[in-house]
Amino acid sequence: MNRAIFLDRDGVLIEDVHLLTNPKDIRILAGVPAALGRLSAAGFGIIVVSNQTVVARGLSTKQEVLDLNAEVHVQIERAGGPCLGAFYFCPHHPNATLPLYRVDCECRKPRPGLLLRAAREHDLDLHASFAVGDRVTDIIAGARAGCRTVLVQTGEHLAPPIETSEPLDDSVEPDYTCADLFQAAQWILEQA
Ligand SMILES: [Mg+2]
Ligand SMILES: [Zn+2]
Repeated sequence: MNRAIFLDRDGVLIEDVHLLTNPKDIRILAGVPAALGRLSAAGFGIIVVSNQTVVARGLSTKQEVLDLNAEVHVQIERAGGPCLGAFYFCPHHPNATLPLYRVDCECRKPRPGLLLRAAREHDLDLHASFAVGDRVTDIIAGARAGCRTVLVQTGEHLAPPIETSEPLDDSVEPDYTCADLFQAAQWILEQA
């Protein structure tokens, strides 16, 4: 089985500009290409898992989300980072503008559906994998999937929790909290 790092995108890999829809607003965070390079060299698959309510809100199509994300991958590689693996996203929201996406789904974090799907498709050992995010909902999703978790402080760690269809489990704590993805990678490599 393989091991992976599940990464939230907005606020972890790139600046969280809230409802990102324009590729011109992509800003790769400092230290990210180097951190991903170290994790990739250590044998971890790099898998991005993201709630993308821009789809539920009718601001972007699924294809536009994929295209914008491909541009994130290109910019990370251009900055010296590795070729990223897969990208999984949840287009739903319990109060979506578009009825098609107004679904109480299993993939919107804090639920672990995106991570579980990735694990099936990439034969991942979740207990040997890690989840990194900037929100408590990323941490809960990672913990529910069986991963060790890291909270980084480059994004929305101080913001109020996102809207969820069930009460948040406030007993879940990250296994490690640090400034940014570079420090997260350092800690992960010490554990692994
Ligand atoms: Mg985030
Ligand atoms: Zn979903």
